[in-house]
Amino acid sequence: MELLTSRKLPVTHGFGTRLGGISRAPYASLNVGLSVGDDPAAVHENLRRLAAQAGVAPGCLATVTQVHGHAVLEAGQTVDRSKVAAPLGEADAVWTGQSDHAVAVKTADCVPLLMVDPVGQRVAAVHAGWRGVYSAVAAHSIEALAKVGTSPGDLWVAVGPCIQVCCYEVSTELAAQFTGIFGGTVVTRVGAKEHLDLPAALLMTLLGAGIPLKQIDVLPHCTSCDRARFFSHRRDGATTGRQLSLVVADF
Ligand SMILES: [Zn+2]
Repeated sequence: MELLTSRKLPVTHGFGTRLGGISRAPYASLNVGLSVGDDPAAVHENLRRLAAQAGVAPGCLATVTQVHGHAVLEAGQTVDRSKVAAPLGEADAVWTGQSDHAVAVKTADCVPLLMVDPVGQRVAAVHAGWRGVYSAVAAHSIEALAKVGTSPGDLWVAVGPCIQVCCYEVSTELAAQFTGIFGGTVVTRVGAKEHLDLPAALLMTLLGAGIPLKQIDVLPHCTSCDRARFFSHRRDGATTGRQLSLVVADF
């Protein structure tokens, strides 16, 4: 199993790849998506392995049913620690302050963000596709943490593997929408096509929310470029898996 990490996050965490699970092609092998057509038993075993790798019980690995919105849920109430936890509910961000819990999001081109507040001892996982970036799900997540006492200036954030500007061709209309909000630097012209830079737009949102630049890490990996390592919805179509990104509140 290969989990990519950021040197800036002071807790156990990892951006999952597709390596180290038991799912068969086209979901080979560490797929965590339950609604993509894979065998649920294989997905549950993959989630068990990820929980073990993170050092938490399967029932303490919290996920949400992601809907490309900006709702934020709190994790921490565990019914059965030994069973793989069902998604908490519909949301695109999840946080916890429980030291024996991990929070996680599933992606295949969308951007996973992991947030850590070492002062308030809270962690969050955020899922941001273009809709989430556009509707500022990252800012909503920071606001939710602020409501329970986290100062944005104390947060450390890692922006994980996603479809990068090299591969993320978008329509002229969508490019214009993003330019209108984030400015021209988030769109790059490649030949006659326009490519969107989701991490660049997210970086602006994070800075605007009060997170210091030195506390933000943007990983360079492109899910679409690296077929051996990542699932990619844009590259593979609807029949592909999801990788998991998780963070543990083990301060
Ligand atoms: Zn690429």
